[in-house]
Amino acid sequence: MKIGVLGAGISGLSIARLLSKQYDVELLEREAIHGGIARTRDAQGISYHVTGGHCFNTKYPDVLDFVFKEILPEHQWHKIQRRATIKFDNTEVTYPIEYAVKQINEFDNDLAIAITKDFLASEDDNNYRNLEDWFRKKFGNTLADLYFIPYNTKIWNCKPADMCVDWVEGKLPIPDKKSFFKGLVSNENDNMPHSTFYYPNTNNQNTFIDNLAKGLKITTNYNIKSIVKNTTGQWIVNDDKRYDLIISTLPLNVLPSLIHGTNEEILNEAGKLKYNKVTTMLWETTGTQNTWTYIPEADNFFHRYIHIGNFFRPAANYSITEVVGEKTYDEMLQNGKKDPFLIRPVDYHVSDHAYVVFDENYTASTSAIKNYLNNLGIYTLGRFGEWQYYNMDVCIKSSIDLAATIEKEYSFALAM
Ligand SMILES: Cc1cc2nc3c(=O)[nH]c(=O)nc-3n(C[C@H](O)[C@H](O)[C@H](O)COP(=O)(O)OP(=O)(O)OC[C@H]3O[C@@H](n4cnc5c(N)ncnc54)[C@H](O)[C@@H]3O)c2cc1C
Repeated sequence: MKIGVLGAGISGLSIARLLSKQYDVELLEREAIHGGIARTRDAQGISYHVTGGHCFNTKYPDVLDFVFKEILPEHQWHKIQRRATIKFDNTEVTYPIEYAVKQINEFDNDLAIAITKDFLASEDDNNYRNLEDWFRKKFGNTLADLYFIPYNTKIWNCKPADMCVDWVEGKLPIPDKKSFFKGLVSNENDNMPHSTFYYPNTNNQNTFIDNLAKGLKITTNYNIKSIVKNTTGQWIVNDDKRYDLIISTLPLNVLPSLIHGTNEEILNEAGKLKYNKVTTMLWETTGTQNTWTYIPEADNFFHRYIHIGNFFRPAANYSITEVVGEKTYDEMLQNGKKDPFLIRPVDYHVSDHAYVVFDENYTASTSAIKNYLNNLGIYTLGRFGEWQYYNMDVCIKSSIDLAATIEKEYSFALAM
């Protein structure tokens, strides 16, 4: 059986790697190199993530096994303790903010009391009108207004009041009242996902990505423009390549328009899907101990700094500034110059698909498109393939699960 995997990002590479053990698999990739949005670029000797910052960790044992046993052995990674902060105008507090009440108390006693009162009084009935309501019920009004609502407004470029909550459970660490209180009276605070993470010893995430791609059949510089199912049930891509099965990691808002015969209704649903681009600039800095910094304030242009130099061993004074949307080099430069921490711009990039937006159309539109693709027999996979807020590890997990499904469904085809 011949399988075509559309797109050679983390998801495409992972599923191809898993299925190549048994089937004839080919990856088709538009760019000149595999890796997708997780790939780094070298700028003056610093390998940085053009699409924001990336760290690897996972709660899934099978993902860790796959990565460490099959791709890059554990001793070729170093483990880093997350040191994240939240930056307000004149001060920074440690992330997660709900465990920073002691620090906040040092400069604003009234605010610390209001956070505590509201958090402990918040009532979560598991019934949420929208994302704003979810934040208020999970964290109380003061933390919602101080951090969660302004930060999420920046990162989604959309008001949380206009967003659904279907995606959020399990994505954000939520302390219960007991652990919030424990955080007030002790120093215990950070057992949350990504409180530690791994980074390759080469100081370049491409080491992992290139190992993932090793030995795979990848056709690069190949822009997929048309997908047709012929009368024998085979898939023909660009009137050129033939497959018995295709797995797409291409964005769900684009894929239907590439498939011959997609009806107006599905194209219309695809047109409703919203996503955000992200613009980044790499800077030489004065240095910090932190791994990243969140910036919730509306009047600060950036939403996050990734201190990529602190992912390296030895560490180096470099950070990535991120802003949602497409911004010019000059906008990045002029806004960066307002912060004396950012000394010198090194590189600049705009990424197209970066964040899925979970607005009111999200659930109905994605399920209509997925039903359509499912009926056609096309598998979709990955952050934009499934139109989800997936990290690399979840893309790998989804690939492991899909590979198992395909192996089960098509075991008869092994000998063909
Ligand atoms: C700002 C930001 C920060 C992140 N931070 C982290 C983090 O810290 N940790 C973490 O684990 N994850 C992080 N992620 C998530 C991570 O980047 C993704 O989960 C992962 O890279 C998605 O891989 P993918 O293969 O699903 O998608 P992609 O990487 O988008 O792969 C899809 C591929 O399809 C190709 N393609 C598209 N159209 C066509 C076409 N017409 N023809 C041929 N090829 C095509 C693209 O070129 C691309 O290579 C972050 C993401 C962002 C945006």
